[in-house]
Amino acid sequence: MSYFRANIEKTSGYVPGFQPSEAEVVKLNTNENPYPPSPRVIKAVRQIGVEQLRRYPNSVGQLFRESAAKCLGLGGPEYIMCTNGGDELLTIAFRAFCDEGRAAAYPVPTYTLYPVLATLQNCRAIEVPFGDGFRLPGELGRAGVALTIVCNPNAPTTTFIEPSAIRSLAEEVGGVLLVDEAYVDFAESNCLGLVEKFDNMIILRSMSKGYSLAGMRFGFAVAQPKLIEGLMKVKDSYNVNAAALAAATAAVEDQEYHRECVEKIKAERGRLGGELAALGFEVPASSTNFLLAGCRGRKAKEIYEELARRHIYVRYFDYPELRDKLRITVGTAQQNDKLIEALRKII
Ligand SMILES: *Cc1c(COP(=O)(O)O)cnc(C)c1O
Repeated sequence: MSYFRANIEKTSGYVPGFQPSEAEVVKLNTNENPYPPSPRVIKAVRQIGVEQLRRYPNSVGQLFRESAAKCLGLGGPEYIMCTNGGDELLTIAFRAFCDEGRAAAYPVPTYTLYPVLATLQNCRAIEVPFGDGFRLPGELGRAGVALTIVCNPNAPTTTFIEPSAIRSLAEEVGGVLLVDEAYVDFAESNCLGLVEKFDNMIILRSMSKGYSLAGMRFGFAVAQPKLIEGLMKVKDSYNVNAAALAAATAAVEDQEYHRECVEKIKAERGRLGGELAALGFEVPASSTNFLLAGCRGRKAKEIYEELARRHIYVRYFDYPELRDKLRITVGTAQQNDKLIEALRKII
């Protein structure tokens, strides 16, 4: 007999990417931003006072909400909920909308945290394969579920669905549509503009990738105030800590630095993609800060292991549709050069 509920026993949990402890590694396996956060973030974190540590933080992160509303051009602070990383918003959404009788649906392949959360919540997860060219499958809008999730740009395929198609989906689904925009900083457009039109839409944003704050744990939801109010009931009272709030507020206020970092990564993404293609990899255009490189007959797992032996870490997924591919985070020019140099020797 187990002490755990049956559905906890049933899942092995989400498997995060490896975090090596050696200092001298080329770490291209968890889609972190290779550049440091804005100098304004470093300053804000250094200025955190003893009183901020002693007291509870503002329970809704009001300063961040006000800054983000202004800097991202949203309707107002009431359109935003702060979360302990974007992942916490996913947990909150499953708890808020799903149970044994209320299912979730999402196109696959996608972020493998979704099925884990569905299992924990004991709700059915309807996995609909993407259409040709990773377009939205028609069945998704007709699934009749409480929560539909679209990861856009999608991980790990790096593909992007135009906001006009997301808009049609929002019109079609009966329940809530959550658009996971964790990687949207590296895409050409986004769905923020749709929030004003749809009372069933939630946009997920993360500060981990585009703002270099993966270690701080900060994400947020953008939705109409009524939906935000309901989500607030489900979150922990003090879900976002004082240091993360200070850092995220400074980061969102420095849009100029943010844009510079994103542009550097996009430029490197193009260059790295070209180098990998020249080595014989199949590299589809990416709207994210990583590439999904097809190994064309060579064993992805062996290349992954050879790279790891040289302290270069990329991500290999042991799933049927991904076994011949490597997911490679776009690093700095030097990191990408080291990767290419190593790959030349390996293959
Ligand atoms: C990184 C990521 C998130 C959120 O990550 P946090 O670090 O918790 O903010 C959400 N969805 C996808 C697809 C991601 O890759």
